[in-house]
This record gives sequence, C-alpha cells and structure tokens, in this order.
Amino acid sequence: MELAEYGWDAGFAAGFAAFAERGLSPARVIKQSRDLATLATRSGQVSGEVSGRFRHEATCLADYPVVGDWVAIEGGGSDPALIHGLLPRRSAFTRKAAGEVTEAQVVAANVDTVFLVSGLDGDFNLRRIERYLTTAWTSGAEPVIVLNKADLRPDLRDVITEVAGIAPGVPVVVSSARDAGGLEALEPFLLAGKTIAFLGSSGVGKSTMINRLLGEERFQTAAVSDAAAGRGRHTTAGRELVRLPGGALLIDTPGMRELQLWADEEGLDRAFDEIERHASRCRFPDCRHEQEPGCAVRAAVEDGTLDVRRLDSYLKLRRELRFMVLKRDVKTRRQEEKAAGRRFAAQLKEVKKHKPRYQ
Ligand code: GDP
Ligand code: ZN
Repeated sequence: MELAEYGWDAGFAAGFAAFAERGLSPARVIKQSRDLATLATRSGQVSGEVSGRFRHEATCLADYPVVGDWVAIEGGGSDPALIHGLLPRRSAFTRKAAGEVTEAQVVAANVDTVFLVSGLDGDFNLRRIERYLTTAWTSGAEPVIVLNKADLRPDLRDVITEVAGIAPGVPVVVSSARDAGGLEALEPFLLAGKTIAFLGSSGVGKSTMINRLLGEERFQTAAVSDAAAGRGRHTTAGRELVRLPGGALLIDTPGMRELQLWADEEGLDRAFDEIERHASRCRFPDCRHEQEPGCAVRAAVEDGTLDVRRLDSYLKLRRELRFMVLKRDVKTRRQEEKAAGRRFAAQLKEVKKHKPRYQ
C-alpha cells in the first residue's frame, strides 16, 4: 500500500526524519478504540498501542494519538505494533472531555477541509454557523460552508449572500443530499489524499451526505425527530477514517460530528475578521467594545457598517471562551498544587530518612 493514499506527503516525511533515523516506520491512525488503534502502514493494516515510555511521557489526553494522526511505530506482525511517537498535527479538532473540569480531548487530527453543514430548513441559523467557523479556524482545517436541503429553499441567492456576509473568504456551497447529483458542489474539495470531515448539528443531513459519498448505506439516517431524540444513529461502528471512491479520505467519528465549542481567541478573531479590523481603530488597545469611549467597533454598528447581531454574537462567544479558559486554568492550578504536594511529601520522606538516629 502507498502511504500517499492515506495522505502522506513531503511535509509529513520531513517531520518524520528523526523517527526514521531510529528505525521506526510511519503509520496513520484510522481507528481508535480505548487502548488499541488500527493503523494504515506500508504493509497494510495493523493494530497498535502506545509504548510504555510514550504513556509515561504523555502529560495530558491531547498527547495521545487519535484518528487521523501520523505515528511512528515499531513492529506490527502478529503482535500489536508499538507506537513510539506522534507527528506534529496540522490540524486538530478538540472538544471538552467529559467531566467537571475542562480538559481538551482531541477527536480528529490532520483534517484538511471541514464541511460545516447547515440545513436550509426551519433550523437555519447564522449564529450557529459563526460558532462552527470559530471552531473550524481554531482547528487549523480549512472550512467550507455547506448549505444542505437546498430543495427546501426557493430563495437561495439571498441566503448565500447572507452567509457570505458572515464568512468572508470562506467558500459557500449548496447541496441537496437526497437528490442524485445533489452533492456536485462538494466535489472540488474531495481531492485524492486530502482528509475531509463533516461538522454540523444533528439532522442537517451529514449521514445522508456521507452515505452518498461512500456509495453505500454505512450509517443509518434518521428522521429529524429521531435525530432530536438522540437515538443511536450508527448501525455499524464502522471504520473512522475511510477512503472515498475518488481517493479523498473521510474522517467520521461519533465525537467529530457535534463538537461543543472548543476554540481559542485566534479562531474567534479569524471568524470575526472585520470586527478585528474595526478594533484596530479603537482608542484603547485593550478595548472590549462594550462601554469604552472611542470604540471604533461600536461606531461601526452606529453607522451601519457592522451588523449589531454580528457584534453580539462575537461578544457572546468571547465570553464563553474566556469562561472556558478560566476553568482550564483552575484545573492546571489544581494539578500544580497536587504536584507540589507530592514533591513536598517526597522531601519530607527524605528528611525523615536522614534524621539523626540519636534523637
Ligand atoms: P445528520 O443528523 O446530520 O446525520 O442528518 P441525516 O443525514 O440523518 O438527515 C436528517 C434528515 O434530513 C433525514 O430525514 C434526511 O433524509 C433528511 N435530509 C438530508 N439531506 C436532505 C436534503 O438535502 N433535502 C431534504 N429535503 N432532506 C434531507
Ligand atoms: Zn472597541
């Protein structure tokens, strides 16, 4: 098997040089279950697990390989291959790990293009698209906005203009996943060796699209009402990274489909590019565009250059992001305190050990 079929290229090869010197081989994670990964290698598919040393050196969840990752492996015959290293990710989709504290859990790596799918039915919502864009820009993948269910909307031109207005520079395409030929607009992005993924709320038509692209009923599609009830959608567990007939690679993990917002301010600023441009003219460099005098962003709203809904949406997302960072910081601090506690206990033990015997 050629690794290029799984997206291997000169850039990854360069990143791999140091591993190659250690006699390791490259492999891509195409499925990840609890401890065992399925890997695509030059000599076919093998299963693999991280080495003890890898586990020892990992400091957080995000250090572990996930679907889409390129890894450096040893062996892989009848025993599982040992994963010794992880190549730097070109992009990573992250969500909040389950639990009280905020920890990043990477659910897919090295996605080149992400389709942000909305349905042009009653559920259509520009603010939600902004949210997905923020997540997409944070991930490092290139977003493409897909407006599905075009068959339900007569005034396509207006809606495309509206969407283009909140997503400068992002391709906007329309599709009709139910109709034969209704996915033509996606084709220019389905390039051989490129990794794609779908993001969007439940019921917008992602499974229908994926089935069509795969040319088989791999996932059960559900009526919107079923989708809302959140009943089990996947008929088969399936593989998580698959090659489409045309050679593009599709990552479709249950965790990928509906990510809770996980983003950073850089992603936010990119999604709200024009607000950033106005902000450069605010009187105070740290202007929050709330009540400050000389705020160029507020002025832009006043004179009609900037839609107030756009600003509200930006401020709301920013508040959410900051809250998330705050929670994350609390967690880091707790971890540091714990580590300090352990160090102190260790020192205490040392001191006790060396306590003079005559005491
Ligand atoms: P998912 O939750 O995003 O995976 O959505 P599904 O693919 O399960 O689709 C939800 C519902 O929308 C199903 O009843 C589909 O048949 C329907 N649907 C999907 N795409 C289209 C479309 O382009 N037009 C119309 N009218 N319905 C669609
Ligand atoms: Zn301002």
